[in-house]
Amino acid sequence: QTMLQKQEKDAYPDWQPGTPVPYAALCKTFSLIELTTKRLIIMEYCSKFLRQVMRLTPDDLLPTVLLMINKLAPDYAGIELGIGESLIMKAIGETTGRSLQVIKADQKEIGDLGLVAVKSRSTQPTMFKPKALTVRGVHQGLMSIATVTGNGAQGRKVDGIKKLLSSSDSHLKEKVDINKDKGGPSEAKYIIRFLEGKLRLGLADRTVLVSLAQAVVAHEAEARGKIPTTADLENGESTLKTVYSELPSYDVIIPAMMKHGIANLRDHCKLRPGVPLKPMLAKPTKAITEVLDRFEGQKFTCEYKYDGERAQIHYVAKDADQDLDASTQGSTKKIDSGVACIFSRNSEDLSKKYPDVLEKLSAWVKEDTKSFVLDCETVAWDVTEKKVLPFQQLMTRKRKDVKAEDIKVKVCVFAFDLLYLNGEAVVEKSLRERRELLSTAFVPTEGEFQLATHMNGQELDEIQTFLDESVKASCEGLMVKMLDGKESGYEPSKRSRNWLKVKKDYLSGVGDSLDLVVLGAYYGKGKRTSVYGAFLLACYNPSTDVYETVCNIGTGFSEQVLEDLHTQLSEITIARPKPFYSHSAGGQHQPDVWFEPRYVWEVKTADLTLSPRYKAGWKEGVDPAGEKGISLRFPRFIKIRDDKKPNEATSSRQVAEMYRKQESVTKNKGPSVDDDF
Ligand code: ATP
Repeated sequence: QTMLQKQEKDAYPDWQPGTPVPYAALCKTFSLIELTTKRLIIMEYCSKFLRQVMRLTPDDLLPTVLLMINKLAPDYAGIELGIGESLIMKAIGETTGRSLQVIKADQKEIGDLGLVAVKSRSTQPTMFKPKALTVRGVHQGLMSIATVTGNGAQGRKVDGIKKLLSSSDSHLKEKVDINKDKGGPSEAKYIIRFLEGKLRLGLADRTVLVSLAQAVVAHEAEARGKIPTTADLENGESTLKTVYSELPSYDVIIPAMMKHGIANLRDHCKLRPGVPLKPMLAKPTKAITEVLDRFEGQKFTCEYKYDGERAQIHYVAKDADQDLDASTQGSTKKIDSGVACIFSRNSEDLSKKYPDVLEKLSAWVKEDTKSFVLDCETVAWDVTEKKVLPFQQLMTRKRKDVKAEDIKVKVCVFAFDLLYLNGEAVVEKSLRERRELLSTAFVPTEGEFQLATHMNGQELDEIQTFLDESVKASCEGLMVKMLDGKESGYEPSKRSRNWLKVKKDYLSGVGDSLDLVVLGAYYGKGKRTSVYGAFLLACYNPSTDVYETVCNIGTGFSEQVLEDLHTQLSEITIARPKPFYSHSAGGQHQPDVWFEPRYVWEVKTADLTLSPRYKAGWKEGVDPAGEKGISLRFPRFIKIRDDKKPNEATSSRQVAEMYRKQESVTKNKGPSVDDDF
């Protein structure tokens, strides 16, 4: 312990117990992490640093963890930096007295704006030594950049960045060599990368979570004069993983963990209305026979798969406020009968889009239903014909500031799961039990609130008939779910093999559509010269934090859509591909323009093939030579996925899985996997 303390002191002399964590200390850790690709070593750096924070300045644990995962607050808080490359370049230029042209030229040459900032900063004479940055100061600074609104917001954002940049790197005694060790521990580099939303450390959110658990366990053992056992570490990890999956908010978890200890965390941090959990997801299948193979000998149930928008509805009645923790009240809206909120698939607040649903909530519950969290699909509803309308109708609804009285497209909410009821999480109950609770606690009303249609038959022809009926009822197909036992519990954030999706149009061909990120475009030819005619798309590799290209696409777009896309995408062009884009180097395959990674599109394909031109899944062992990536043949544009962020696009591993499945149709074997990591 004395050695460790000495090391700490030598490395960061200004970091005394109780003083704010120097941002330089965090950046030093970042730079060590950046130089390795080994997950265990990354985890060790990470947990050692967190332990040091706990020992010296526990109050800074929360901002430290947030800066490590490139977030300022939990997703549901809706705090986005919203800063494009041009604004960042402006701030770098103004801080360092270099012209925008020079910065742009540097960016073209170096490719990483973080390093451009370091270079700019190191050519700048320093007149005075600014006050060193601290972790909490940087967090606050970034927060104020993210939250400025109103007139002149852009200018004030630039000012905020300038303020941080001009205080950066004052501790460095030598000039940073941007060509050595990836630019070393420069603060400017990491501030800029944070603003871009990509720290590029290869530090997955999941690794931070596990490192945090390890650090806490070690810290608590140390306080008792003990060394943690492997069992202690495993228990700590599993506790934190479970708690985080039910309550994905470090803002709530970290203070509770420091106060009550990790062993008691589950008693204090439980699923609660107001904090959206990451939804459970399904695995694709290609045939009903595959479903039967998977569930052999176990009871399953089929439900209609509605084609709308996922909605997690949280509600607490007026006379049951004790269910709502003060720390989460900010994310709920007051309604006449209590408080409520609707969250999207990626935990964004949808309440402004569905005021009509919020208004009616209290009419859908029985008198003694005081609080709940429901997993649902909102679907456009034809009031005259009394039936479900296609997804496209739903998309014509405005996203924000909708007034209930102006709504033209009515929606019906189809509830398919219940996660919390009357003060208690029910995720661990079996699906059969949750369904029973659903039917006793709610009052369905046709065209407004209904329970997902289901069928418990286990025979092939019963399922086939039910699938045909679902298609007639304008659904996408079926969801087939484990019905009984522990395995049928709700698994937040997991893509689970206990939920299988059977879509009508992939009963032959590739199992599922893909959600891909638009990275670049090619100018159109002939009729399409004023718009982009084709686009370069990529999947996402969460373990390396890289977008890997997967196809060019020019089919499935109407003229109007092409025009709209041109307008939308012209705003986010960048001078050259980001360093975290992986595409073949060959000159003739480069798109004419590159974009920031912002938009996700749903795409269908005839099949998948290996290609030297693309990089999707090239490290997933599909090509024995490790060179070719996977690409889509005859891709076709389906729709824009507003509800997915680029890092929620189809992952490289999923693309590889689809490719392998196509090669030899394997069964849905193997454990459930976390979707987000
Ligand atoms: P994924 O969520 O699997 O990445 P995705 O968002 O494209 O893919 P789908 O593949 O279409 O969605 O399938 C899952 C989605 O189906 C759920 O997220 C949910 O919105 C919707 N859904 C409709 N009906 C049901 C149901 N009965 N049970 C579960 N999900 C349903």
